[in-house]
Amino acid sequence: MPAELVIRGTVLTVDDRQPTAEALAVSDGRIVAVGARSDVEGWIGPGTEVVDVDGCVLPGLVEAHGHPLMEAIVLSDRMVDIRPVTLPDADDVVAAIRSEVADRGPDGAYLNGWDPLLQNGLPEPTLDWLDRIAPDDPLVIVHNSGHKAFFNSAAAWRFGLTRDTPDPKGARYGRDADGNLDGTAEETAAVFSLLAGVIDPADYPAMLHAELRRLNKVGLTTCSEMAFDPVFRPVVEQLRADLTVRLRVYEISTAQMSSDATPDNGDDLFRQVGIKIWVDGSPWIGNIDLSFPYLDTDATRTIGVAPGSCGHANYTREQLTEIVHAYFPKGWPMACHVQGDAGVDTILDVYEEALRRWPRDDHRLRLEHVGAIRDDQLRRAHDLGVTCSLFVDQIHYWGDIIVDGLFGAEHGTRWMPCGSAVATGMRISLHNDPPVTPEEPLRNISVAATRTAPSGRVIGPEQRISVEQAIRAQTLDAAYQLFADDVIGSIEVGKYADLVVLSADPRAVPPEDIADLDVLATYLAGRQVYAKGD
Ligand SMILES: [Zn+2]
Repeated sequence: MPAELVIRGTVLTVDDRQPTAEALAVSDGRIVAVGARSDVEGWIGPGTEVVDVDGCVLPGLVEAHGHPLMEAIVLSDRMVDIRPVTLPDADDVVAAIRSEVADRGPDGAYLNGWDPLLQNGLPEPTLDWLDRIAPDDPLVIVHNSGHKAFFNSAAAWRFGLTRDTPDPKGARYGRDADGNLDGTAEETAAVFSLLAGVIDPADYPAMLHAELRRLNKVGLTTCSEMAFDPVFRPVVEQLRADLTVRLRVYEISTAQMSSDATPDNGDDLFRQVGIKIWVDGSPWIGNIDLSFPYLDTDATRTIGVAPGSCGHANYTREQLTEIVHAYFPKGWPMACHVQGDAGVDTILDVYEEALRRWPRDDHRLRLEHVGAIRDDQLRRAHDLGVTCSLFVDQIHYWGDIIVDGLFGAEHGTRWMPCGSAVATGMRISLHNDPPVTPEEPLRNISVAATRTAPSGRVIGPEQRISVEQAIRAQTLDAAYQLFADDVIGSIEVGKYADLVVLSADPRAVPPEDIADLDVLATYLAGRQVYAKGD
């Protein structure tokens, strides 16, 4: 039977047995042939759509650490995007806050993206300052990292937060010397408590559609949600006919430490694959768990880091052990956010013990971001079968601040050490942790291969990886981490025809130019879900 679709042009398969090809054929959503033009010719019949591409075909890109279900809300009209990529200037940020407070009135103003390290000159967002800007109505400003939020007195009242409110597990509300709330919330459970109920559920489907369009536009066909709240499950199920991106989700570990789902849930379009924990916080707010101190500089003073501080973890070793032991024996893999090297030591100890007690061959335990991970820790992780997803795009935005402002040359230049990770033999992925940085998988490939900071200097050239390796980390190896490499991640017979067409072969342009290649088309299971100009 002839194929439904044949694509001809330069094909990068990310399949070691046949790295490049000239054509591929698709039937029933799956790849049925890939190889030389002559190999595929026989699949062309009267009803076959034949597409000759000028650029280059790759497997659909995979975001191993995303937040699409949350970003759908954050980038919707209900919240204002004040991230440095949108508003680099501090005065514009403050003006946007004032204007949203005036526009929303009693409905409350919610803004995301506050970043004093990149938006120089932001005022200190004290409770007093917040209450002066919004004396009567709720105001919530989420830090660009997502790990902190600032809220005024009216918001505390709206959400029922008082001095007697206990801190959620692994998170906290800031308090003054007298124990009163100081208008700050740190870490997921506390930050999310300030956003509950901000959207009308009836508005959510349109928000999610817009988000999926944004993902397809940058060439993504699979995306993880690393902070999955099961309240979204029925909504996603209801929209599954419209899903143009495969979703792999990690449920947030809760105080109950149990999930209603089981590891065999879902299908190739939507599946919960694991459980997420935040071992520590964000480098940009001073709460990552380090073995060495932050520098004492203007930058660290701006973000309120005490001189000599090594940050801290969100959980004790005992608490982390309790969480991992609650989920892992039930068959769940875990993905642990961890930026500081002291935190890496703790979670690797906890992983190692769990693996000893409940040995499992294909566990795919993960570490997320791993800015300050050391070489010996990477080797230890690899020996345990643990893989890392690296947030290498941080170099593009914060590269200079990491070295000069926060951690110094010794620790800063090896930040996000992709080179060391790959050298162990580990299968790594790259990610954007959107909306922390925009969803830009092609830029991740550029940055992993160049490590160029905003000033133009190269941060830790020995940690660069090849373009081919970076492409793997944004396709097949990312799919591996999401338990999806059996059906996606490379262009091979039998896998879904999830594809992206780029304007040029990324191996044929200077690595720094890969970020700016055009996505000409995106296909999910052979169906075109994006075309440039849409
Ligand atoms: Zn994240």
